[in-house]
Amino acid sequence: MALKNYEFWFVVGSQFLYGPAVLETVAARAQEMVDKMNASGKLPCRLVYKVTAKTNKEIADVVREANYDNACAGIITWCHTFSPSKMWINGFANLQKPYLHFATQYNREIPNDEIDMDFMNLNQAAHGDREHGFIAARLRMPRKVIAGYWQDADVQERIGSWMRAAVGVAFSKSLKVMRFGDNMREVAVTEGDKVEVQTKLGWQVNTWPVGTLVETMNAVTEEEIDQKMTEYASLYDFATDDIETVRYQAREEIAMKKMLDAEGCMAFANTFQDLYGMKQLPGLASQHLMAQGYGYGGEGDWKVSAMTAIMKAMSEGQTGGTAFMEDYTYHLEKGNEYSLGAHMLEVCPSVAADKPRIEVHPLGIGDREPPARLVFEGKAGSAIVVSLVDMGGRLRLICQDIECVKPIMDMPNLPVARVMWRAMPDLTTGVECWITAGGAHHTVLSYDVTAEQMKDWATMMDIEFVHITRDTTVESLEQQLFLNDLAWKLK
Ligand code: MN
Repeated sequence: MALKNYEFWFVVGSQFLYGPAVLETVAARAQEMVDKMNASGKLPCRLVYKVTAKTNKEIADVVREANYDNACAGIITWCHTFSPSKMWINGFANLQKPYLHFATQYNREIPNDEIDMDFMNLNQAAHGDREHGFIAARLRMPRKVIAGYWQDADVQERIGSWMRAAVGVAFSKSLKVMRFGDNMREVAVTEGDKVEVQTKLGWQVNTWPVGTLVETMNAVTEEEIDQKMTEYASLYDFATDDIETVRYQAREEIAMKKMLDAEGCMAFANTFQDLYGMKQLPGLASQHLMAQGYGYGGEGDWKVSAMTAIMKAMSEGQTGGTAFMEDYTYHLEKGNEYSLGAHMLEVCPSVAADKPRIEVHPLGIGDREPPARLVFEGKAGSAIVVSLVDMGGRLRLICQDIECVKPIMDMPNLPVARVMWRAMPDLTTGVECWITAGGAHHTVLSYDVTAEQMKDWATMMDIEFVHITRDTTVESLEQQLFLNDLAWKLK
């Protein structure tokens, strides 16, 4: 489901103590706030005013309705007046959707002349939201708290940003991943407990034979390939005369898309060690599928594939780009240190600074024919890299802030797409932190999704989150990981 088709429900807490006139005013203002926030253009999804809830039953009812409505991606609560929170326990105990507590108030300023006890009774958010916050703390609910004035652009943007993370939850819970073959032999970090991820994150991770893909490829028509070649020509520069090789990638892409769409899969993984019956490792084919929103992981890495798809769904409509990535090589010149990220072939062109080129080169690994791939430089700018690892009994999401630069050299003989960045807090400390946390060589790199969104997503998914920032030290990280390890054993 597309981002714009999701909605969030605005549930306002109150009680009968104030009389019907106050409740009517609260309801009218809640509707006005929703209308104005929707009109702001800052929210990616529609906010829907649902109810001014005054009883345990009203709250339990709206929670049950939210749980079973596929379009509802979360609830946003606020207390214009005081809402005794024991009324919320039965509803909250059953809430299965993301939850944001918005601590705001209708008026921006205290009206000096107007303020009297009637005004005070109507405008109680300052203490109503505290009573409301306590019960969520007491119930240990995963939640987001945002405080600020509802008409301020920065506050609306924060709500919008959380909405995207919550849509990532909805997307995750229905995500299907198609595996062509197993993961690369002997590799540890691409392993993982598929039952655990389905229980925690909702992912359905299953395998399909490469032979079925080959049969599907053989059934692709020349007309379908012609059409795909026209699409490639409109998006990319051809830097090869080897048109048959490019056409073979088009055939692979069309076949993979048919299989993915037939099964409702938004992510896939393959491996160069299992290409039985295929002439080329999909390069351009996988890259162009990623550009359409599908997640991909190389060497059978279905975890990074799923995370790529989720982060693409979270950032739908944004233009910075989100890509499957791999730390490849370092530039360790003192004071000018960088990571060079790339892959054998499959970097998503959404992160390209300029129009990508289609090139054909030998692979150097495996035993297939030279594949066509997109070659480009990544954009400069702030970004994050994200890795989900299976710690045995729990999942850990690691996020590192990075600063991408235009690659400092043109590397004319490197036949793949490349992105260059400096990890926070600096390259070598950043590497020490990443390795200490157990982060993989495969990551999702995103210029759009923020670390706060990934933290929100991890909170909603109830998994461990580790963030390596400008301020992280190895010592503080080791301490955090030690305490996290104890805490997650008790959870
Ligand atoms: Mn790899």
